[in-house]
Amino acid sequence: MNPELQRPKGTQDILPPESWRYDKMRRLALDIAQQYGFNLIETPIFEQTSVFLRVGEATDIVQHERYSFIDAGGVNLTLRPEGTAAVARAYIQNGLYNWPKPLKLVYWGPMFRRERPQAERYRQHTQFGAELYGSESPTADAEIILLACRVVDRVGLENPEVRINSIGCAVCRPRYRQALVEYYAGRREELCQDCQNRMEKNPLRLLDCKIDVAIRQTAPDLADYWCDDCRAHIESVMDQVGGAGRSIRRDPYLVRGLDYYTRTVFEVGHPSLGAATALFGGGRYDGLSGQFDGPSAPAVGFGMGIERMLSAVGNRLQPEPASVVYIAHLPGFENQAQLLGEQLRNVGLATECDLLNRSLKAQLREAGKTARFTVIAGGYEWEQNLVQVKDFTERSQESVAVPDLAGYLLNQLRNPEQNSDGGANL
Ligand SMILES: [Zn+2]
Ligand SMILES: [Zn+2]
Repeated sequence: MNPELQRPKGTQDILPPESWRYDKMRRLALDIAQQYGFNLIETPIFEQTSVFLRVGEATDIVQHERYSFIDAGGVNLTLRPEGTAAVARAYIQNGLYNWPKPLKLVYWGPMFRRERPQAERYRQHTQFGAELYGSESPTADAEIILLACRVVDRVGLENPEVRINSIGCAVCRPRYRQALVEYYAGRREELCQDCQNRMEKNPLRLLDCKIDVAIRQTAPDLADYWCDDCRAHIESVMDQVGGAGRSIRRDPYLVRGLDYYTRTVFEVGHPSLGAATALFGGGRYDGLSGQFDGPSAPAVGFGMGIERMLSAVGNRLQPEPASVVYIAHLPGFENQAQLLGEQLRNVGLATECDLLNRSLKAQLREAGKTARFTVIAGGYEWEQNLVQVKDFTERSQESVAVPDLAGYLLNQLRNPEQNSDGGANL
């Protein structure tokens, strides 16, 4: 194929059945969000570039990985690299801070980062995220974490593990930051190049360096610097999440370096991935909405990369079978078969018909691939107003009156173990 006509590097066409796994993941995630009283929000997939510059000047995404362009009107726009900044912008612009508190929102949609293509890292990827605005209470943090765990659990990764830390607040974090910088300043020569840069810009990130792990072991611990409020907050979050039966432990090296983060940071992993690997993370960012010139509001949330999730879940999440009923027909009865199909779809049965004028034998072979029931329309029986129904699960076959067909099939589906009386074995 002409390279100019191929899809852009680092993107994917999501084909069946993988497309149905995405869809199933989306429905499970949104169902669970509704169970917790969250509402769906959709924001544009592009924003004015300033929106993302405002919230993340020190991050790699904003510095190097933006998809930005000037449109024909001269406006500097960026394809959104993440959801939190866009929701915060929408929160202020629409005056959502006047809505009843707390405001619980979830989003699902594509995000864009121009990163080097590698396994599970796409330039367009899908993210599911939750944002809870208006509560400082540790119950809000706990609810966000419990929601995240329930989604992971439901898609097939049972018993997820949560790692949590508190990066403190405006009262206690500056004291810790100073102690940390003093500790690392004495070891500057030993640090990797990234960490030497972090010393000034983002000292907390020194703790999550993957190279300088020996140095951090004797570094000051955040827990020794927490103020009483911050200590009580993280203890309460851990009590609630643990009390709900979820595995949660403190990770002293888990940090988020941005200024608008407060207190809770967390990551969710799973034993099948190894102890240090995270599926996704989240945290509390009480200072974020204030960056949009609006009233500042406490907020806590997470963002879940769906490609990463689907890869970790593997075949534990399977799409539903395509159809329940296949209507095969004898030659000349294709129109009747299609009408019968419509009647079954009217009562909610997923139904397919032959559209290729195949032989009955070929139709039956096709039906056997996905459908539970095969209905055979045509011939002598049709004149008696009857059809043959094969049930692949029950391995039975019987004649059913056409007007009773929908009711018969629904009844068979409702009573899977109750075999039909007159059914001859196939
Ligand atoms: Zn504090
Ligand atoms: Zn380092």
